[in-house]
Amino acid sequence: MDGKRKQRLEALGIETWVRRDAPAAVVAVPAVAAPVAPAAALVAPLPPSRPPPPAVVAPQPVLQPVVAPAVVAAPFEVPADWDALRSLVSGCQRCKLCQTRTQTVFGVGPITAPLMVVGEGPGADEDAQGEPFVGRAGKLLDEMLRAIGRSRADNTYIANVVKCRPPGNRDPEADEVEGCRPYLDMQIQLLQPRLIVALGRIAAQRLLGSDEPLSRLRGPLHRYGKFQTPVFVTYHPAYLLRSPKEKAKSWDDLKKVWQHLRATE
Ligand code: SF4
Repeated sequence: MDGKRKQRLEALGIETWVRRDAPAAVVAVPAVAAPVAPAAALVAPLPPSRPPPPAVVAPQPVLQPVVAPAVVAAPFEVPADWDALRSLVSGCQRCKLCQTRTQTVFGVGPITAPLMVVGEGPGADEDAQGEPFVGRAGKLLDEMLRAIGRSRADNTYIANVVKCRPPGNRDPEADEVEGCRPYLDMQIQLLQPRLIVALGRIAAQRLLGSDEPLSRLRGPLHRYGKFQTPVFVTYHPAYLLRSPKEKAKSWDDLKKVWQHLRATE
């Protein structure tokens, strides 16, 4: 202990001590910047043979854990009816995303559409408006569809892997994707599109049951579900906004979509 600190403590009436067994070079000396405990909080000195008292830890506020509803692992029956399915989704609490959403985002488009587009999940704009792909990425998607003679108003149904917005626009987590699985499966079963386009890695991996990167999933025609619905994979429009140089590859994908739909009309 330095002389000044010893003098200060002695001036406060506090006896000072030094561990006998401690080497002189490692006697604890608080750094100059360290907060000095008020005199009243200092404990009485202990005999040298006892270890120094533990540091006084200020009480921490007790945080209440957020308990997420458990994902129902058992088979979950969903109605094979558009209105009943939409109603069920609107009150769904099967995963923790129900705690932070403004509203569910079910899907949009004609229920007779031959083309289905599947994205990842709602963002802030979609959460506010209750419709998928309405922000900047949505405008780009509309342009992409228009380029191949498609639109959400006439012949394209748009939905997402999860129907509630992941906070901060993070990727949906595995339990959230699984919680929402029956809804997307039923949307596909009811629609029975001639072709599905998966936008981005999350949608592609979910539909194809794969953990391959997007670069490996783009290109070939895949098949989905019991109806073996054809699936093409391409970039998510939000990614294209960040990486416009990839738009050329996206255009290659869209040409395949256009050719497939024409060939199956
Ligand atoms: S994301 Fe899907 S499973 Fe989770 S609460 Fe929303 S609708 Fe239900």
